[in-house]
Amino acid sequence: MLTLDTLNGATAGAGALLSLLREGPPRTRTELVQLTGLARSTVSLRLDALLRHRWVLPADDVVSSGGRPAAMFAFNRTARLVLAADLGVMHERVAITDLGGTVLAERTADAPIDRGPEAALGRLVRTFTDLLDESGRDLADVCGAGIGLPGPVEYSTGRPVNPPLMPGWDRFPVPEWLGERLGVPVLVDNDVNIMALGEHRAGRQQTGQLVFVKIGTGIGCGVISDGRLHRGAQGAAGDIGHIRVATADDDVLCHCGNVGCLEALAGGAALAARIAATGVPATGGRDVVALLRAGNRDAAQLVRQAGREIGDVLATIVNFFNPAAIVIGGDLADAGEHLLAGVREAIYKRSLPLATQHLRIQGSELGDRAGVIGAAVMVLEHVLAPEAVDSALAG
Ligand SMILES: [Zn+2]
Repeated sequence: MLTLDTLNGATAGAGALLSLLREGPPRTRTELVQLTGLARSTVSLRLDALLRHRWVLPADDVVSSGGRPAAMFAFNRTARLVLAADLGVMHERVAITDLGGTVLAERTADAPIDRGPEAALGRLVRTFTDLLDESGRDLADVCGAGIGLPGPVEYSTGRPVNPPLMPGWDRFPVPEWLGERLGVPVLVDNDVNIMALGEHRAGRQQTGQLVFVKIGTGIGCGVISDGRLHRGAQGAAGDIGHIRVATADDDVLCHCGNVGCLEALAGGAALAARIAATGVPATGGRDVVALLRAGNRDAAQLVRQAGREIGDVLATIVNFFNPAAIVIGGDLADAGEHLLAGVREAIYKRSLPLATQHLRIQGSELGDRAGVIGAAVMVLEHVLAPEAVDSALAG
């Protein structure tokens, strides 16, 4: 008798087969048998389950092995959709992606986050619904939502914890609130972590060891170790903004209460404040970059010096973690070589030769889109994990 248990047993392991197809080219049944070392009948059962749920489709390509052409099977990137949002302090970017993390529709808006969670998340639900409508799809096609927030997030609960720039958000149950309205699993992390994920997975970073540094109003970094995001015990890993810069004067006070923090010296807000003190209006990193591009010498000098201070802190991280790549993103990264030159200078001066021998230090490849793409990647890693696919097929 065919019970549910035997059916589950037949498709358990289908998730691993899907991973194989997702990470590689289309394959024939024979290739899948060879690659997995499983019996042909087992591969067929798992493949049938994946085909039935449209996770996999017959590929158009066929290969001829001398006789009859063999059918090929490919991961179906269009099987489901992912909702992704990168909420900043002042701006937001909201997108729908396919299962490959490709953006299908997106919208950006000026949207201050300090009006509280229900205002921001209510608007987000409306934007997701609009984007789905415009794409001719609906929530039934969605497998999950990924949200990036501009503050510390306890990853296990998806709740912001004492976020300094988000009044009213402390401990707000973001996943539950959105999950109730969207009817899909919701994952939340801080913006720097999702940018690191986006840059690592969707960018062309061929390395498992990467440090992504966001230089916006504040400064933070996301750490990819052995190909996975390293969040730390509580989700606070990578908070380099409050590391003391060795060369800092004692009179530079940070909003955290300490003196000489990297963020208080080299963050976009700090640089803008110093420009403003010379009588030139500037409120953030974007203004500083605009002034630099317009030929303002003070701005160029400040950015170069900020690069050295950031490099000074990163040199310690290079010695400690030995990344293969450091990717710089955020508003101030648009200063390009003016910033990178200072970063490189300090890192090469202070790091050990073995650690810098093959180290790449470069600007972000995804730019403003790193966050939404990373938010989608966070969801994909969750819903396409082999055990998650197995239980979806069993359920
Ligand atoms: Zn500080």
